[in-house]
Amino acid sequence: MDEPVVTEDEPCEQCGLCCRIFGPGITPTPANVYVWIEQGRTDILHWFVAFREHGDPVACTGLRAEDLGDVVSFEMRNTETGEYVTVCPFLRRVAKNRYLCGIHLVKPEMCWNYQPWIWGETYFNKCPSLKKTGRKCRWPL
Ligand code: SF4
Ligand code: SF4
Repeated sequence: MDEPVVTEDEPCEQCGLCCRIFGPGITPTPANVYVWIEQGRTDILHWFVAFREHGDPVACTGLRAEDLGDVVSFEMRNTETGEYVTVCPFLRRVAKNRYLCGIHLVKPEMCWNYQPWIWGETYFNKCPSLKKTGRKCRWPL
């Protein structure tokens, strides 16, 4: 696991609410998984299962880059037990009310894209940063 990265340049208040609620359901893109394979990030790959067009589901630690074209979807799982996880395994609590992502620099695309302070209103209206912006879209910046 990486040292959690502090991202002071973002208005995210690092309350961790979005990660705690939606974290167990995140799915990476094939490009995300490709990077993890190339970088030897078995600590991340270990938490995902690949469902393939041909063959049984496999833990992503067993995938090679050339296998990615056969993958239909990825799911976060405890690959030792096959069970769903209840908390994103990459979330780090660094203070009473402060949480950071333990894989911030290589986190899944859907985590990067969750920027309500830029895009405005979302289906998740409990984000404090979203409230501060008045739920308004700031795009284009
Ligand atoms: S990978 Fe990081 S940003 Fe994404 S849900 Fe988990 S802790 Fe949050
Ligand atoms: S809910 Fe909003 S403020 Fe809290 S961690 Fe998520 S994006 Fe940041």
